[in-house]
Amino acid sequence: AAEIFYEDDADLSIIQGRKVAVIGYGSQGHAHALSLRDSGVDVRVGLLEGSKSRSKATDEGLRVVTPAQAAAEADLIMILTPDHIQRHVYAADIEPNLTAGKALAFGHGFNIRYGYIKPPADVDVILIAPKGPGHLVRREFVNGKGVPDLIAVEQDYTGGAQALALSYAAAIGGARAGVIKTTFTEETETDLFGEQAVLCGGASRLIQTGFETLTAAGYQPEIAYFEVLHELKLIVDLMYEGGIAKQRWSVSDTAEYGDYVSGPRVIDEHVAKNMQGVLADIQDGTFAARFIADQDAGAPEFKKFRAEQEAHPIEETGRKLRGLMSWVKSDDDYTGTAAR
Ligand code: NDP
Ligand code: MG
Ligand code: MG
Repeated sequence: AAEIFYEDDADLSIIQGRKVAVIGYGSQGHAHALSLRDSGVDVRVGLLEGSKSRSKATDEGLRVVTPAQAAAEADLIMILTPDHIQRHVYAADIEPNLTAGKALAFGHGFNIRYGYIKPPADVDVILIAPKGPGHLVRREFVNGKGVPDLIAVEQDYTGGAQALALSYAAAIGGARAGVIKTTFTEETETDLFGEQAVLCGGASRLIQTGFETLTAAGYQPEIAYFEVLHELKLIVDLMYEGGIAKQRWSVSDTAEYGDYVSGPRVIDEHVAKNMQGVLADIQDGTFAARFIADQDAGAPEFKKFRAEQEAHPIEETGRKLRGLMSWVKSDDDYTGTAAR
């Protein structure tokens, strides 16, 4: 069984005694930097001159310096730029400042797992990966709660790498919810699989296919949107609270019976085979190589996919309906597809 740690297992004074650099101030970066600061940690944010994120960080009273200066000042460097940019930031700004005994930290194991970053042997290499989007990580911290974190140690030069990772997790609220020990390999492969097969890829495609099936059969798109997208949140909330069993307890007997009869018809054995194929591409590096090659070429495939997907009719229907539901709002800085 997994090893799980809580607040009593963590020594917050370890991270409070370190100088921390958070490189990047996006979804995860803002959550880490602000919550570390609020936990009494000496934190600076590393951002390039002219970065869009600079004013957001300075408006919160954080000290912002260049990534190179942040890495030079700090003895724990947390890289929270997009995964495909990390090796460039590492080579240009971090590696030259990564002296013996410092700690290099990640929010996702991608670059270590696939060998895009190869740290020297005389540093600690640790992972603190919140299991939720950055905006939720910060919101829960502010509410006195936390999103669970995974921690891992790839290199333990100082002998204190795990205690350091646990202390960091406590400072961003993770230990309030639970900190689970894993490895860079397990975190990376399961995170990619989860988001591709179920959370993002699987769920998005399931919803779109339901919408397409109903509208192609002549049903109104507004009705289809409510039935296959809007109500999904209510269902997921029940699963989150009490598992699939609580969701089945709460829905009507009609819905529960339909679940048993039609669920396996929709998600049949082909889907399991397809998922195994997705997992194989993650494990052998095929997915990582495709993603990085596309990004290095200016992301033509990624941009094409994004444009095609944003044009799906469910998005237009959703924009119209959400405009009518004043209580459906987002507290982050997403302003809709037009802003991209
Ligand atoms: P975002 O895309 O939200 O944020 C990127 C940040 O990095 C921006 O502030 C950007 O600045 C900055 N940046 C870009 N290039 C550089 C550079 N060369 N030097 C310094 N800063 C730079 O990233 P995420 O928060 O989504 O992802 C960060 C890491 O966290 C990834 O490893 C990801 O896998 C992991 N993770 C993300 C989760 C999430 O909730 N999104 C969940 C768990 C893990 P600018 O504004 O100028 O572009
Ligand atoms: Mg991920
Ligand atoms: Mg219904």
